[in-house]
Amino acid sequence: MEIIDSPQKIKSFIQELKEQQKTIALVPTMGKLHQGHGELIKNAKQKADIAIVANFINIMQFGLNDRPGQYPEDFAHTSEIAKMNGADILFTPEPSIIYPQGFSTFIQEESLSKKLSGPSRPNLFKGYATGTVILLNLIRPQFLILGQKDIHQTNLIKKVIKDLMYPTEVIVHEIVRDKDNLAYSISNEFLEKFQRQDAQRIFEAIQKAKKMVEGGTRSVERIIAEVTHHLMQSLRLRIVYIAIVNPQTMESLTTIHPKESLLVISVWIDQMRFNDNAIL
Ligand code: AMP
Repeated sequence: MEIIDSPQKIKSFIQELKEQQKTIALVPTMGKLHQGHGELIKNAKQKADIAIVANFINIMQFGLNDRPGQYPEDFAHTSEIAKMNGADILFTPEPSIIYPQGFSTFIQEESLSKKLSGPSRPNLFKGYATGTVILLNLIRPQFLILGQKDIHQTNLIKKVIKDLMYPTEVIVHEIVRDKDNLAYSISNEFLEKFQRQDAQRIFEAIQKAKKMVEGGTRSVERIIAEVTHHLMQSLRLRIVYIAIVNPQTMESLTTIHPKESLLVISVWIDQMRFNDNAIL
């Protein structure tokens, strides 16, 4: 596995790969990698000749209340996970090289980025879209592998790719879960045992919602009430949002359309935020 940290170097490397007619799949990531990322990298390697993992802290997506400085990084662990899962290139630019002094051009998507917590986190979607577009321009991948776990961001990038006519196919990888069904996340490693038990309520609530739909419930209000009730039984858990939305547009629904309704959950457990979702 090659480790490259300069945009110039990656550009000339990509040029060589293009001349050799190699196909490229890109996996954009941030901070310390975990096995959820690992599965995306395996998927990239199955799809294309060359799997590239981009790993850098995208400072543009953080707001004043976010704490990018606390986003853990562990280069040795990250490069081990990337290598073990088949990455050919690990691209690790310094954020200050991607966004040099005076940087002033942004990608602002106007529809999806206004849904759910979009308005309260104005930098998140603008920064994520801008960072991803810079990677698309540098790496020119045929495939972009993103996670269902961050479905709102994933849908946003699909929209940007469509609107700006990038010749890249987005592959959405299912949520990768640990043995206890908690979705892998950078936050998991900070959880104490008792907090992890609370975190399991998220998957339990999803299962409850699925059962209700299987049993014939079609009222979004009733399902959200049940999910809220289950989550609120833990005092440590604070709800950011629970919504049932159209899986592509993220518009709120009032009635369940089975297999076409997406339950999205975002909660704080003490100072850590967790997102999860499932098609109902
Ligand atoms: P992050 O490093 O958290 O910004 O995530 C990088 C990519 O990995 C995004 O496309 C995420 O959706 C994806 N990802 C993170 N955790 C998981 C998971 N548990 N299962 C599937 N994809 C994930």
